[in-house]
Amino acid sequence: MKHLLIVGGGPAGTAAATTAAARGCRVTLVEKSIVGGAAHLWDCIPSKTMTATAVRIDSIRNAAKLGLVAEPGQVDPRQLAARISKISESITASWNQLLGSQGVELIRGTGRFVGTNTAEVETETGTRRIDFDNALISTGSFPRVPPWAEIDGERILTTRDAYDLPVIPEHMVVIGSGVTGVEFVHIFNSLGSKVTIVVSRQQILPHRDPEVAAVLEADFIERGVKLVIGARAEAINRTDEGVEVVCDDGRIVRGSHALLAIGSIPLTASLDLEAAGIEHDHGYIAVDEFQVTSQPHIYAAGDCTGQMPLSSVASMQGKKIAQHLVGLPVRPIDYSKVTQAVFTEPEIASVGLEDIQAAQEGRKVRTTKVPFAANARGVLQGYQGGFVKVVSDPATGVVLGGTIVGHRASELIGILALAVQVDVRAEELIETILVHPSLSESITDAAE
Ligand SMILES: Cc1cc2nc3c(=O)[nH]c(=O)nc-3n(C[C@H](O)[C@H](O)[C@H](O)COP(=O)(O)OP(=O)(O)OC[C@H]3O[C@@H](n4cnc5c(N)ncnc54)[C@H](O)[C@@H]3O)c2cc1C
Repeated sequence: MKHLLIVGGGPAGTAAATTAAARGCRVTLVEKSIVGGAAHLWDCIPSKTMTATAVRIDSIRNAAKLGLVAEPGQVDPRQLAARISKISESITASWNQLLGSQGVELIRGTGRFVGTNTAEVETETGTRRIDFDNALISTGSFPRVPPWAEIDGERILTTRDAYDLPVIPEHMVVIGSGVTGVEFVHIFNSLGSKVTIVVSRQQILPHRDPEVAAVLEADFIERGVKLVIGARAEAINRTDEGVEVVCDDGRIVRGSHALLAIGSIPLTASLDLEAAGIEHDHGYIAVDEFQVTSQPHIYAAGDCTGQMPLSSVASMQGKKIAQHLVGLPVRPIDYSKVTQAVFTEPEIASVGLEDIQAAQEGRKVRTTKVPFAANARGVLQGYQGGFVKVVSDPATGVVLGGTIVGHRASELIGILALAVQVDVRAEELIETILVHPSLSESITDAAE
C-alpha cells in the first residue's frame, strides 16, 4: 500500500486525501492550523459569509422597488463575526469527520522535508519523523504585504483581519482592485461604511473585459463608492483620526481603516524544499501538467504552485493527483475552461474564451449578448442591470465561452460552463426549453 504524505489541509490537500484514501492509499495529512485551510478560515467561506449579509442588506435597500417599505437596520459586527466562525467551524467539523471515516491519519503540526522520502512534523508534543513513498505539498499562500505597509490588524488590515472587527469601519480605504478588492468594496459599502477604492490601473478588475468592469464601476459610483483611478499606493500612515494612504501621484486618501488586497505569496519558505530536491521559483513550486514537481514522487497543488489561485482549482488538482498516483488515466486540467466569479452585487461570472481575448489573439468568433433588462424574471424581481454574453465558433457553432454580469451570475454560469466543457453548440442551447420566467432564459436568448 502506497503511503502518501500531504502537507497542508486546504482544498487541495483534503481533496487529495479523501480521493487517495478511497482508492486504497495510506494517507497521512499534516495540518498546522485547521482542516479546510485558508479557504475555510480566511478566504472563500468567511468572505462569502460576509457577502451573504451584504446582499441581504442590498435587497432590503432595494425593497421599495417591489412595493415593500423596509429599513435594513443595524449590522451587529459581533454577531456577524460569530456567524462567520460558526460556519467555518461547522464546515471544518464535517471535513474532519469525512477524513476520519476514510481512515486518513491527521497530524496537527508543521511539516518540513528532511530528505527526498522523509519529513519531520513539529507537534505540540514533540517532533515526529515520517517516511513516505509519495508526498503532496499543498501549503497555500498568505496575503502579500509590501514593505511600505505595516499591518497592525486594527486600522491597517489584510483580508485576514476583516472578519472580526469590533465596529463597522466608518470609512474603509480598499487598496487593490482585483477580485478580492472589489468584493470587499461591495461588502463594506453594504454594511454601511463609506468606501474609497485605490485603483492602480485605469479600470477596476484590470485583467477583465472593460465592458464588465464598466458595469461594476457604474454600480459602485451609484452606491457612493469613491474610485481613485490610476493611483498606486506607496505608503499607509496611522493618523489621529485613522489612516492616510499616500499615492505615487501625490494624492492622499484619508479614511478610518485601510484594507490591503494586493495578491498573495506562497507559503513554502519553511518547508525546506531543498532538502527534498524540489525546484521552485521565488517559493512557487514548479509542476508539470499532472502536478508532479521536479521530484517524480512528489506533487504540489493549489496556491503554492502559482497556478490559478482558486479553491475550486485546488480541489480538482488534489483529486487528479490521487488518481495519477494510483495509476488511473488522468486528463490534465484545461485552465482555459475554468469558471470564475466575482461575488459583488451584481455578480460577475465567466468561463472560457472572452470576445476581447479572441480579438487580441486574432481569432474569429461570434459574440451575442442580451441585457437582463429584457428578462421577465429580472424585471419583476427588480434585478435589471447586467447582461449575458455568449462567444461561439462561427464555423462549428460550438460555445467557446460566456460572461454573465447580474444577480446570481455565479450560479447561472453553470449552464455555460457545462456547454464549454462538453462542446455544446449554440443551437443546442437555444433549443433547450428552460423555466419561464427565469434568469437563465437570458442564457438561451443570448445564444441566438
Ligand atoms: C479573501 C479571499 C477570498 C477568496 N474567495 C474565493 C472564492 O470565493 N472561491 C474560490 O474558489 N477561491 C477563493 N479564494 C482563493 C482560495 O482561498 C485559494 O485559492 C485556496 O484556499 C487555495 O487552496 P490551497 O489548498 O492551495 O491552500 P489553503 O486553503 O491556503 O490551505 C493550505 C493549508 O496548509 C497549511 N500549511 C501551510 N504550511 C504548512 C506546514 N508547513 N505544515 C502543515 N500545514 C501547513 C495551512 O495552515 C493551510 O491550512 C479566495 C482568496 C482570498 C484571499
